[in-house]
Amino acid sequence: MSYSPERRSEDWPEDSKNGPSKDQPNYDGPPGMDPEGALDTNWHQVVESFDDMNLKEELLRGIYAYGFEKPSAIQQRAIMPCIQGRDVIAQAQSGTGKTATFSISILQQIDTSVRECQALILAPTRELAQQIQKVVIALGDHLNAKCHACIGGTNVREDARQLESGVHVVVGTPGRVYDMITRRALRTNTIKLFVLDEADEMLSRGFKDQIHDVFKMLSADVQVILLSATMPDDVLEVSRCFMRDPVRILVQKEELTLEGIKQFYIAIELEEWKLDTLCDLYDTLSIAQAVIFCNTRRKVDWLTESMHGRDFTVSAMHGDMDQREREVIMRQFRTGSSRVLITTDLLARGIDVQQVSCVINYDLPTNRENYIHRIGRGGRFGRKGIAINFVTEADRRALKDIEEFYHTSISEMPSDVANLI
Ligand code: ADP
Repeated sequence: MSYSPERRSEDWPEDSKNGPSKDQPNYDGPPGMDPEGALDTNWHQVVESFDDMNLKEELLRGIYAYGFEKPSAIQQRAIMPCIQGRDVIAQAQSGTGKTATFSISILQQIDTSVRECQALILAPTRELAQQIQKVVIALGDHLNAKCHACIGGTNVREDARQLESGVHVVVGTPGRVYDMITRRALRTNTIKLFVLDEADEMLSRGFKDQIHDVFKMLSADVQVILLSATMPDDVLEVSRCFMRDPVRILVQKEELTLEGIKQFYIAIELEEWKLDTLCDLYDTLSIAQAVIFCNTRRKVDWLTESMHGRDFTVSAMHGDMDQREREVIMRQFRTGSSRVLITTDLLARGIDVQQVSCVINYDLPTNRENYIHRIGRGGRFGRKGIAINFVTEADRRALKDIEEFYHTSISEMPSDVANLI
């Protein structure tokens, strides 16, 4: 192949000191990126059936048993280069099957007769790591693939013991994974595949150095796969330091986007009136399942208490809660025993609960990227869903900004909204 096998991990940029300045004249983003901020595809093969991907028989059985009949757009494009061992950057909207894309690719490549960790997946939240673990285990059922979730908030010694007992795939959050590597409970010399889910989040701000620490411990020829719904240019710039001639795949926003999700706003003059509005909507929300997003943990607590005070059943989750509590709440929500969940952006990314058909932005997200992550919680995989934005006078501008950014229109909520759920 034409690329240099040397990775340049030592070139890892410190926070935006290195990359090209966006203020430079004629700057149009790093190579592989168009100025609009989307990946520029350099791979055009499309395989429309799982049967035509030359997958192991047991894996194919796992896929069909899981209920998949046909690969999604991103799966049709990205699985093949991944299983051919190429470095891949894949960008597709939330809920379009990226998790299964890398899970299938990993399961195809590992040798389950060897009890060694051969693939490492990093994700930004514990819940997402656990969800990925479930998908790998389910799809790999007939292969007897062992997948361990290595996440913070659990017993360190037990974690190490599990790893030492021999697993094929590890999925975790960066801090705990690094801890397990330094304790030598997780040996990196056998890892062939390194996956970063929600790569934009993982390679920006707080996580970047942790990812670098982990990456430095991996062997030089590890295959790297990056997946995300959004790819800001600074993230792509970082990825150049540790990917080799990557295959780039973008499934266009238009093909998947907010299509299927009806977006509305409710104009609420004052912040103080939002609570009454939410209470009025409650019966509608609990027809199916709803997620309500607030911007801070304190607001989540406050709103939850206020709803309880008015005898509405809601559950709440955020990053200040301990891990056991978070797990119980997620389980109750997944099984449908709780139907309305109030949360922060902790849950905006990647979490997949099929029955969620309504997302409420009690607060508009403070960054535009999170809008699509949040409302992608509703209408998963083509199912219909609605998103309702609470908009005060002060939010009007931000709403306009979101409409422009996503080339979409958000109309005032009609009175018969219940029929849309
Ligand atoms: P992403 O990682 O892109 O956010 P997921 O992998 O979580 O998306 O997939 C979203 C939902 O679609 C999940 O419920 C998943 O089981 C389902 N799904 C994924 N791929 C397929 C497929 N090929 N056929 C049917 N359902 C699928």
